[in-house]
Amino acid sequence: MMEDFNSETDSDYTSYWRDWFVSSRGNEYFCEIDEDYLTDRFNLTGLNTEVPYYQYALDLVTDVFDLDADDDLREQIEKSARHLYGLVHARYIVTTRGLAKMLEKYKKCDFGKCPRVICDGHPLLPMGQADLPNMTTVKLYCPKCEDIYNPKSSRHASIDGAYFGTSFHSILFQVYPALNPEKSLRRYEPRIYGFKVHAAAALARWQDNQRDELHYRLGEFDMSYRFIEESESEDDVEFDEGASEVRTERVTGDAASGRMDLGN
Ligand SMILES: [Zn+2]
Repeated sequence: MMEDFNSETDSDYTSYWRDWFVSSRGNEYFCEIDEDYLTDRFNLTGLNTEVPYYQYALDLVTDVFDLDADDDLREQIEKSARHLYGLVHARYIVTTRGLAKMLEKYKKCDFGKCPRVICDGHPLLPMGQADLPNMTTVKLYCPKCEDIYNPKSSRHASIDGAYFGTSFHSILFQVYPALNPEKSLRRYEPRIYGFKVHAAAALARWQDNQRDELHYRLGEFDMSYRFIEESESEDDVEFDEGASEVRTERVTGDAASGRMDLGN
């Protein structure tokens, strides 16, 4: 496990604290920040006012800490070091190297799997609902259902969301678009003794119609969108009129009213 976090830019002597930090229980969501990144003051802009005992905390994180402090002070500095690490982490994980490290962890399911049954255990990504610290705790984003979840373990549930930020998970899929999972049409249908529950079925029908209509309107703009269940033989780039004849007939009326709704 440990060797995964070592970066080739770090010497063996300078990553003890970070090694210890990222391998501690409860810190599995963090990747190891490169020493190069931590020692470039530009990357730390503004953090000196956010973190108490800033210089000592930074020294501790970069393993040049050399202070005879009593236990109380040491504890304070240790706390500051963790906070500083988290805040720098949010900046680091949207860099090329940081994204690559988090991608490795995502592929290994280090952030857990989506609890939604129809997502089939899709890997999650950590995210914050705020970029400022002490607002909300870390949440987990599933790119398959595009929803967010609370972490299962209480150790993870108490981590500040600002250590991951609001944009990281979206940037990851911008940088690695091929990773974006195919969206599925599958969904849970509530039934009573085999019969669909009326209100839920009506809503599902309405949603299906809306989806068809959107599909059609995107087609008018030459934008095709395919769900995982739809066959590969359908035209890839352009909206294939032949393949969508049935759908077209069905939604013509709705599409017209849809345009009216948009005021076009
Ligand atoms: Zn999901």
